Amino acid sequence: MQETKKEISQTENIEYSDRLIGDLKGTSSGPIVIALSGIHGNEPTGIEAIRHILEKLESKRSVFHGRFLGLIGNIEALRERKRYIDEDMNRIWFTSILDKIRRTSIDEVMTAERRETKKLLEIIDPFILEEKPKHPVIFVDLHSFSAESGLFVISTRDERNIELLAQLRVPLIFGIEKALHGTALKYIQNTGNIGFAFETGQHFTEFAEDNATAGLMCMLVAAGCISASEIDDFARYYDYLKAQTDDLPHKVEFLYKHIIEPDDRFEMRPGFKNFDRVQKGDWLANDRHGKILAQRTGYILMPLYQQQGEDGFFIVQECE
Ligand SMILES: [Zn+2]
Repeated sequence: MQETKKEISQTENIEYSDRLIGDLKGTSSGPIVIALSGIHGNEPTGIEAIRHILEKLESKRSVFHGRFLGLIGNIEALRERKRYIDEDMNRIWFTSILDKIRRTSIDEVMTAERRETKKLLEIIDPFILEEKPKHPVIFVDLHSFSAESGLFVISTRDERNIELLAQLRVPLIFGIEKALHGTALKYIQNTGNIGFAFETGQHFTEFAEDNATAGLMCMLVAAGCISASEIDDFARYYDYLKAQTDDLPHKVEFLYKHIIEPDDRFEMRPGFKNFDRVQKGDWLANDRHGKILAQRTGYILMPLYQQQGEDGFFIVQECE
């Protein structure tokens, strides 16, 4: 797979002043799709993908059903190209913490990420907190990662998710919510809406951006927002996505996560890519206590090659 590093400093060219990248309202009713990008500040590729979709579909309002909102998550961290400033913005989405953030005035909110979350909630609350929404709310959280290659979707086994995502042909990872707490995805699902995280490729690469764009386009069609025949080059997106995922397993489930603790000095051994096969006992990483071996046999996911982050790597296995 070709993965040209996108060395143009995107973060300097992008104006983050507007958290709402765009809001495309179709002329007829339908699902509300909310795409969030950059909840981690070193993951700006989703922003570009959302822009592309909005530009492409701007002239299609008359045949668009429902609404597509594109949003930016952690503006302050994006400016610094860091995962986060004070705390991980995708680990604080607990009902109690969010309610406190909602109740507190902005100048009394303690961390940069909680201020960002407060401003984001002001936009999405009317949709996600609606008691009986007439149409489904679909929340897509766009991410990238530090390892090379691969793309996948983190989902629950909720049938609505599986039905929608099956049409994307992107590998589905189940059960990660058991290992990751306080994520936006999990919170949105708990509100009764459809939510998933789309891990699109390596940070700052065209590959991640193209995958996000193709994935969003295919998802809007799968959700019924627009018919494929209305998009002149829809096959281009669909075939591209299929080509990226043909060799990858379709459905895998979580087996194991290596947790990094403060001062562990965790270092992944070089060369691991998403979906590389590992055997129990393989030497995967080092920390100050010595060698870290694979605890299970399966596929490796999200091996960590960056400084910030508490998840060293995941091991998953194909679903029966
Ligand atoms: Zn992320």
